[in-house]
Amino acid sequence: MVGKEQEEMEKGYTVLTYAEYEEGLRNGRLLGLRCASCGGITCHPMPVCQWCGRRVLKRIELSGEGELTTFTVIRVPSEGFEEDAPYIPCLVKTKEGPCVVGRLDYNTENAMQELIGKQVKMKGSYTYEGDKYSGGAHTCPVFGVVE
Ligand SMILES: [Zn+2]
Repeated sequence: MVGKEQEEMEKGYTVLTYAEYEEGLRNGRLLGLRCASCGGITCHPMPVCQWCGRRVLKRIELSGEGELTTFTVIRVPSEGFEEDAPYIPCLVKTKEGPCVVGRLDYNTENAMQELIGKQVKMKGSYTYEGDKYSGGAHTCPVFGVVE
């Protein structure tokens, strides 16, 4: 299958676009997809299930809760992110299964390795304007540590 035909087919299967995912984040909702075939949850959205590759997907809302898998503190930002530094990009393993990239809202002076494994919850979102490499503005989830 080639070109336009493939494109039309993909469109029919996409029940959650990346733009809709980001809009959900801006409204405080972490959206994902549940696979009718294996039951796995896919997040961020993709045209296929991230676990089994099938396309029978239904839009769902995730809890926004999870475990901090890893993070880093950015003190020397890349071009276009000067205003943001210092900030903490993080990877969260959600309660529902998939790992989501976001930012951690935490005092950068106190952020130590001991934070890894802590329970976190989505508390909002952050929209960055992007730089010449990222093709415009994007929104990511912001997580806070659950004390
Ligand atoms: Zn699946």
